[in-house]
Amino acid sequence: MIHKYDDDCIFCKIIKGDVPSYTVYEDDDVKAFLDISQGTPGHTLVVPKTHVPDIYAYDADLAATVFSKIPLIARAIKASNPEIKGLNILNNNGKVAYQSVFHSHIHLIPRYTDHDDFG
Ligand code: ADP
Repeated sequence: MIHKYDDDCIFCKIIKGDVPSYTVYEDDDVKAFLDISQGTPGHTLVVPKTHVPDIYAYDADLAATVFSKIPLIARAIKASNPEIKGLNILNNNGKVAYQSVFHSHIHLIPRYTDHDDFG
């Protein structure tokens, strides 16, 4: 697939390897990497490799491609640590919904106990 990049986008720079990240999973369509600000240990962002600002900008094929990868990445995160007891999946769209990076991304946030500090 030929990807569309935005030169000013931090996640496009990560996808191109111009900005470092800790990769959790990568294929032709998506990259998953650790969030720089870990809500809980293992907090991961999944991004399409093509620049899509938010959920409204996906076509059906790209949405199917990107969102179909979430279960396998979730399983990989779970398998990485037996202490992981659950997982929150979150996708913010728009400033009022707390989106701060306008390259669509899905947060995968592992949960460890009934009462960890996040949320
Ligand atoms: P919020 O900042 O409210 O979580 P988003 O849903 O847009 O809004 O999430 C953007 C996420 O991108 C943040 O969790 C932030 O820590 C993360 N982030 C920003 N820059 C980087 C980076 N260079 N590498 C990894 N994660 C990053």
